[in-house]
Amino acid sequence: MTDLAGKTVLITAAAQGIGRASALAFARAGARVHATDVNAAALGDLRADNLQTAILDVLDAGAVTTCVNRIGPVDVLFNCAGVVHGGTILEMPDADLDVAIDLNVKAMIRTIRAVLPGMIERRDGAIINMASVASSVKGVPNRFAYGLTKAAVIGLTKAVAADYVAHNIRCNAICPGTVESPSLQERIRAQGDYEQTRAAFIARQPIGRLGTPEEIADLAVYLAGATYTTGQAVTIDGGWTI
Ligand code: NAD
Repeated sequence: MTDLAGKTVLITAAAQGIGRASALAFARAGARVHATDVNAAALGDLRADNLQTAILDVLDAGAVTTCVNRIGPVDVLFNCAGVVHGGTILEMPDADLDVAIDLNVKAMIRTIRAVLPGMIERRDGAIINMASVASSVKGVPNRFAYGLTKAAVIGLTKAVAADYVAHNIRCNAICPGTVESPSLQERIRAQGDYEQTRAAFIARQPIGRLGTPEEIADLAVYLAGATYTTGQAVTIDGGWTI
């Protein structure tokens, strides 16, 4: 098991879903965890040894800087915040694209800019960015803004990895298939026929079930401790892209 004792981890969107499971997994691996989210209420019952919660809206550049200054040197940054919009290129309101670019892409740029100088100084650091198989990995119907922005996450991951590999900073992306989470439940319910929509989501995963947040969290912990892996978009998708 990856040992992250002595490491300080900053996670965005840690109140629920993959971010929450990751915060707990990082804490189990021995790290000092700063679990942040914009949803204070949902953060309320997130507790573990060496885990602190804080409200952070990653759309707010000033708040990101203040948060990182308060934490001090960050060894591992897990950019988990993201939003899913439905719709094709013709259906998607421009406002959705603006939100998707801001939250799925620019927010990662903000947090990476905030932690990188310290990582460069210490010549060590791991950055993990949440992408998706719905990206440059695979075209998924009805996910135009999402696929576009998650492809950008893979691009920014590789660019940062290339620029800072000589400083011993690793930057990798995680590309999940469909994972059980509160927002997935909302998307399924929004379709009307819950059982039929859920069955359709499961049918996309050849392994025959949805992923769990804990399975993605295990990969995040692995990448946090991986010292010879950088610039990779690691797919974890129950066989969706075989
Ligand atoms: P989720 O969508 O259920 O929860 C998202 C969390 O993000 C919430 O706690 C919310 O409060 C937080 N958040 C929203 N806006 C924020 C902001 N401005 N600042 C800080 N936090 C904010 O969780 P999930 O489904 O596990 O998704 C987490 C990440 O994984 C996202 O980037 C998502 O795109 C990605 N992902 C999810 C799946 C999936 O099937 N669930 C698949 C591939 C990738």
